Amino acid sequence: MAIPDPLRPLPTPSTQAGRDGVAALLARPARAVVALDFDGTLADIVADPEQSRAHPATVPALSALAPWVASVAVITGRPAEVAVRFGGFSGAPGLDHLVVLGHYGAERWEAATNTVHAPDPSPGVEGVRAELPAVLEQTGAEGARIEDKGHAVAVHTRRATDPRGAFESLRGPLAELAERHGLIVEPGRLVLELRPPGMDKGVALAEYVRETGAEAVLYAGDDLGDLAAYAAVDALRAQGVPGLLVCSGTEVPELAQQADLLVSGPAEVAGLLEALAHHIDAHHTEARPRGPAREDRPDLA
Ligand SMILES: [Mg+2]
Repeated sequence: MAIPDPLRPLPTPSTQAGRDGVAALLARPARAVVALDFDGTLADIVADPEQSRAHPATVPALSALAPWVASVAVITGRPAEVAVRFGGFSGAPGLDHLVVLGHYGAERWEAATNTVHAPDPSPGVEGVRAELPAVLEQTGAEGARIEDKGHAVAVHTRRATDPRGAFESLRGPLAELAERHGLIVEPGRLVLELRPPGMDKGVALAEYVRETGAEAVLYAGDDLGDLAAYAAVDALRAQGVPGLLVCSGTEVPELAQQADLLVSGPAEVAGLLEALAHHIDAHHTEARPRGPAREDRPDLA
């Protein structure tokens, strides 16, 4: 029989609401939803978004926690299939009930079936896609890079000669382009994304929590696009559903200021998830881990 690891310390949130969120999660993990952004939260930010991969500690941490909680969901602006691939989520042990809400909830991948449900492409995105190269050329934002997400188009300036200058000079022209095609612009960390309105992580998270009937929620993100999910958790708290807001990194002060718990990045997000799993495992003899863990424990079969 394996000797259990010593209990990992659980960081204390800086707010009472956050401490209530952790307490609720630990008290009744089987009624809790854990929702996480992908880039910057489960995967380190890299210059080329196509090279993004989950941090090596991410899948093991998710696998440790998932069997104890009602559900783990990844909520991302990326296409669901891309996040699944870059995350290495498909077929991962313990993640057989993972849900990935892609395109801010417009798409949904379920590990149980390994299929993606996706909406039809928006005509506005087609129009933006056609005009975008000319707009970038006119703006002279040297080194800006287009990422075609299918249901959205993003312009990255991280590799531009002057990343911040290119970002600022593109804001106006891209807002105008988006408006002409009925899209909105979502700014992020040196990225401007043009997409159909009505898709945001707050709507996705609120619907998911409603669907699962969760009684506690943890949300972790790193960027401006996560503010909507933070607002959704605030609204849930007002309705009596405790929640914990985790901010990964401090590059986006608007988000960090609203967080209950600040961690340095994806490695520490994984550490937090693993610590939660350890604490639940140590204190909840009544909790019933599902999936492969059950086979190792005849007392729970
Ligand atoms: Mg992110």
